[in-house]
Amino acid sequence: MFHSSKSGGCQWPMWPHDAAPNHQYCGRRRKENSSYCPEHYQLSIRSGEDEDTAVFVRRKAA
Ligand SMILES: [Zn+2]
Repeated sequence: MFHSSKSGGCQWPMWPHDAAPNHQYCGRRRKENSSYCPEHYQLSIRSGEDEDTAVFVRRKAA
């Protein structure tokens, strides 16, 4: 009976990337205005900054 918007904890998936989802989430206290705890919030930001993005930004700036 969980709605993702209403569950209290961090929504970071704890299962491996290449595994079938087992729906175990981090569940720690979430950062404000985030679906993740502070630690996983940082990870979610970093994962958005992969090399391709960095190269793209650099090219755009140049
Ligand atoms: Zn977390």
